[in-house]
Amino acid sequence: MVKVTILGCGDAFGAAGRFHSAYLVETPQATFLVDCGPTILQALKRLRIDPERIDAVVVSHLHGDHFGGLPFLFMQYRYEAPRTRPLAVYGPPGIGARTQKLFEALYEKSAHEPMNFPLTYQELTPGTPQTLADVRVLPFAVQHVSELCCMGYRFEVDGRVLVYSGDSAWTDDFITHARGADLFLCECSTFEPEVPIHISYREIAAHARDIDCRRIVLTHLGAETLRRQREISLDCARDGMTLELAGTRQVSPRARPVAPRTDARRRPKGASRGRARRAR
Ligand SMILES: [Zn+2]
Ligand SMILES: [Zn+2]
Repeated sequence: MVKVTILGCGDAFGAAGRFHSAYLVETPQATFLVDCGPTILQALKRLRIDPERIDAVVVSHLHGDHFGGLPFLFMQYRYEAPRTRPLAVYGPPGIGARTQKLFEALYEKSAHEPMNFPLTYQELTPGTPQTLADVRVLPFAVQHVSELCCMGYRFEVDGRVLVYSGDSAWTDDFITHARGADLFLCECSTFEPEVPIHISYREIAAHARDIDCRRIVLTHLGAETLRRQREISLDCARDGMTLELAGTRQVSPRARPVAPRTDARRRPKGASRGRARRAR
């Protein structure tokens, strides 16, 4: 079983009080964060998830709402619940230096003291797969801002596939990356306006029928997207939402049944993939 918990699906501005980007992925052999926004500890503790369970963090890009929670996680591991086991942080080139700089800016003394647990940084390169326990991590380049290396991710574990857009403008590359995925977490910062660094609902809806995945869930939701949520016929993430991936290698993605979901009770009506395909 692979379980994804939406810890934060807000945009950089915390639209409607939603937490910054963070997703917890649990596989048979690993528990890791995908992005780690500044509200990470609030998000984990609100859901009563012990931060100690996190084996690794995978960062999409070096914007504050995606990696700014790392120093808070370190403080948790230093003082609140002292950690001894290793933590691996994966991310774009510069992940180690930028995180250390941020830690120094926020907690200068602590940042200069030796860590009480082994902390490693590993730089990832778009197109080069990496193994994290039982997970194959494939980073791919996305079109967000030119001054940073920005990545989306395709995670494969035991035939189950999770694709995450990170922050990006729309590109048809997502159709390729999300092919056969059980879940495509796609950013949707705006409803209507097309901004060059983010995806609007209009754009994703126009391409939804071409995306051959089991389920699309919109995330990184901005204020306008949330205000017009009733007009959206794709699933929208909520903080605290859990999703289970139930793929198998033997069956083609198109023929597989709809994934069981643990959030069925709160799921908006009609928010299935079939509906997604009709959305234009
Ligand atoms: Zn962002
Ligand atoms: Zn960003």
